[in-house]
Amino acid sequence: MAPKSCRRTGAHKAHSLARQWKTKRRRRDLDQIHGDMHPEKAAKLLRQEPDPDLPGSAQHYCLHCARYFVDLKSMKDHFRSKVHKKRLKELSEEPYTQEEAERAAGMGSYVPPKKVEVHTQPLEEMEESA
Ligand SMILES: [Zn+2]
Repeated sequence: MAPKSCRRTGAHKAHSLARQWKTKRRRRDLDQIHGDMHPEKAAKLLRQEPDPDLPGSAQHYCLHCARYFVDLKSMKDHFRSKVHKKRLKELSEEPYTQEEAERAAGMGSYVPPKKVEVHTQPLEEMEESA
């Protein structure tokens, strides 16, 4: 007679899948800038009180990159640069909300973000003195 083998099965360990949400920091910046692009806020950012602690006394600000420039020339150069153009492209997609991310991950009803028109801010006031 074969001895009855009584194999104990190890207690099933429940794997708790800690879901890691890799929120891209870059997106957050873009969300913030989308906020800054609202006309009222944009107007304030583009016409700041001179601040000696900031480059160019805060008179040359790129709204879309959230950067200050020392003078008009460097800002214009920046507007023609790759980084700025890339940023405009990134901003032309609507802010990516958490809700949207979940929808994209889970269900099949993903709707791609709408495009918004984003242009470099106009350089009205300084052009005349050139
Ligand atoms: Zn820029």
